Amino acid sequence: MATGRGVVRGKVRLAPEPEIELKRGGSSADLQLASGTIAHAMGEPIGRVVVIEDEQPIRDAVLAALRAERFTATGFEDLARPEAVPALAPDLAIVDVLLPSGNGFELARSLRQRRELAIIFLTARDAVADRVAGLELGADDYLIKPFALEELMARARAVLRRRGAIPQVLEVERLLVDEEHGFAARDGRQLALTSTELRLLAFLMRHRGQTLSKDQLLTQVWGYDAYDHNLVEVHISALRRKLEAGGVGRGRLIHTVRGIGYRFSS
Ligand code: CA
Repeated sequence: MATGRGVVRGKVRLAPEPEIELKRGGSSADLQLASGTIAHAMGEPIGRVVVIEDEQPIRDAVLAALRAERFTATGFEDLARPEAVPALAPDLAIVDVLLPSGNGFELARSLRQRRELAIIFLTARDAVADRVAGLELGADDYLIKPFALEELMARARAVLRRRGAIPQVLEVERLLVDEEHGFAARDGRQLALTSTELRLLAFLMRHRGQTLSKDQLLTQVWGYDAYDHNLVEVHISALRRKLEAGGVGRGRLIHTVRGIGYRFSS
């Protein structure tokens, strides 16, 4: 399985976006928004996330993955002055433990004092002391670098679901998917999906109406940087078989977009 390659090698493609500098009270910017500040997610944004990570390739990859999941995501390379963050009203902060201005734990504490939000720490060290310090701060979750992007996205969604910031269950046309509990059903009949099929279906449902390329699905669902389109095709056809089995009037939900990929729509 993929382990962190999506992050480390920075395979996620980013649209160029402007560098934005945020100045407060005329003082020079000790608070700098990293490039790619404004979310351009298609469809309605769900959940707001800030990412505080000084390593740009990681930050850019995480922001791109969050936006692909339709989160409104804002990146910071450091946060010497965290007081501006509550204005962004984040539901979740993803915080690197080692930041140029100091310790990510201190920053998280400071953010929490100003606004109730979920925290996921990123740390390069698999150190017990770090974990204990983070847990004492009420961290919702942890990831040790290098990590797989799809793992971070799964944890982010789980944390936000638990906090009610995003829906617990996806539902489209009597098709229900509960990722947390690995449950899927159509017309009241449970579907026997593999975990990959469930992730793929949930991703398609979250991007309802959008055309998704096979590369995009590989990166977001599998996390591979190898582009084996066959893997996607095989899983899509298995998923279709299961979704459309056993019924008159079970319309196609996953549509092929010739030469590109797939689109989920009823
Ligand atoms: Ca760092």
